[in-house]
Amino acid sequence: KAEAEARERAQPARTRDGHRIAVGANVNNPEQVGFALDQGAEGVGLMRTEFLFLERGDTPSEDDQYETYSGMLRALGGRPLIVRTLDIGGDKQVAHLRLPHEENPFLGVRGARLLLRRPDLMEPQLRALYRAARDHVPADAPTGKDAPLSIMMPMITSVPEVLRLRAVAERIRGEVGAPPVPLGIMIEVPAAAIQADAMARHCDFFSIGTNDLTQYALAIDRQNTELAPEADSLHPAVLRLIHMTCEGAARHGRFVGVCGGIAGDPFGACLLAGLGVHELSMTPRDLAGVKARLRAADMGALRALARRACEQEDAAAVRALDDAGGPA
Ligand code: PEP
Ligand code: MG
Repeated sequence: KAEAEARERAQPARTRDGHRIAVGANVNNPEQVGFALDQGAEGVGLMRTEFLFLERGDTPSEDDQYETYSGMLRALGGRPLIVRTLDIGGDKQVAHLRLPHEENPFLGVRGARLLLRRPDLMEPQLRALYRAARDHVPADAPTGKDAPLSIMMPMITSVPEVLRLRAVAERIRGEVGAPPVPLGIMIEVPAAAIQADAMARHCDFFSIGTNDLTQYALAIDRQNTELAPEADSLHPAVLRLIHMTCEGAARHGRFVGVCGGIAGDPFGACLLAGLGVHELSMTPRDLAGVKARLRAADMGALRALARRACEQEDAAAVRALDDAGGPA
């Protein structure tokens, strides 16, 4: 029985009518990769590198980071890995970085905003990543969404941020002598979703951070327990932003992943697939349920379901579609 379950987990998430959704795991260190693969992950769709900084009392050196990224690449053996550069600020504070106190840290200097202000943090990280690419990505490795290593920038709000980050990344890649590495951005601020078509012109892929996108679209602090029941990523306003993101990406042939919590919810995963998302990355424990649900679904039906969901008036009405004739 255990063997049958393991075989089932290893099956791809291919809908009944033959559409394959890529599934990855959110994993922060090489030690977690084995479990994620066993649960059915095809790669790592989100490595949150702030944990390298949070788990220790000081800033990891470029060499320390190089070792960790190399370890991830080795553990994955050529399967795709998306590494997100440092996303500090908001709920992720790092005492030893001694960042200034802010009244509203979720609206302050976090993610890309911090990276652009702190080359002392961004540049060693990018050098470590490109060194790992140079040393561990074979010349004949796949490119595009199957690339063994991709780099992703957090908390993007504007096109100039993308251009500036890209310029720094390309300079460092040249200095290191690394092969091309896809460079993507997180879509987790409504401005970025609304401008997805412009964003897509300047980067290689998107990953939608539904945790923050929900927080910023609904103006609900993601840590506020009192409001937690209302902070539903299936709110039609959030779904419409995701739909805009997929349309903007499609216009430029870019691929779209989702790495926020809703990707691990089987019904949420169905809606995301129907909205046009190509890849779902989640906590390893959620993989089996999501894959099973997608395999039982039909993409034509999921697209219709997603369209109906966007037309609902509130999140409860969207969730009600799950029982009302949604896919099994
Ligand atoms: C998100 O915001 O959905 C996301 C995946 O990033 P994090 O949870 O690390 O902010
Ligand atoms: Mg986020």
